[in-house]
Amino acid sequence: MRISGVRGSILRRSEDLGLERGQVILTFDDGPAGAGRTEALLDLLDHHGIRAGFCVVGREVERRPEVCRRIEAGGHLLVNHSFAHVSPLSLTEEALAADLERCDAAIGKALGRDHYRSRWFRPPGGILSQGVQRVLARTGRDLYPITNFAWDIFPFPGNQWRIATSLRGDLKRCRAGVYILHEWIYPILASGPVPSVRPGDCPWLLPVVEGFIAEVKRQGAVFVEPDRLPQGE
Ligand SMILES: [Zn+2]
Repeated sequence: MRISGVRGSILRRSEDLGLERGQVILTFDDGPAGAGRTEALLDLLDHHGIRAGFCVVGREVERRPEVCRRIEAGGHLLVNHSFAHVSPLSLTEEALAADLERCDAAIGKALGRDHYRSRWFRPPGGILSQGVQRVLARTGRDLYPITNFAWDIFPFPGNQWRIATSLRGDLKRCRAGVYILHEWIYPILASGPVPSVRPGDCPWLLPVVEGFIAEVKRQGAVFVEPDRLPQGE
């Protein structure tokens, strides 16, 4: 599904991000996932020579630091996706800034780097509140936006087919963009005007990604580096 420039959200138009037709960026949220799922995803991306953006949750990085290291070693982009995946609308600006710091600290510890500071932040639930914008500006971070969302956070029978169809249709229409998929569905903690999602595994992820890669190639598009986006807000 393609939504253009929704106020208060991280949805953008690919042309506003400087992406030309045929340029695609893949991003994966809410990991690193357990049960070897992220490693299997990395194997698949490596096989195709694709570098992706991984919007990681600090709490999961603490649980799986070795997976975080492998993401970085593979040349993928690590994006701060908060420490606890709390809705930004439920936090004061100070608490939000502290949460971002804590995620960076978890990544830094996993990578063995003191004072690690991520350039990019993607807020939980895609909520770009004024508080998020102020914290980003104050701390010198950039928003990592999305252009296409395949509604993969709602697990129900037949979801794999629906996600794949949505991705294929978007690609045909846009031929460019920042696509988001979830490695695992993390609950959005606390309240806010966001759909409530059930936490859970995403068993459809690998076949969906495999099909999407084939479709990108079939349509003559290419995967581009995940850090080539211009400075955000
Ligand atoms: Zn998330």
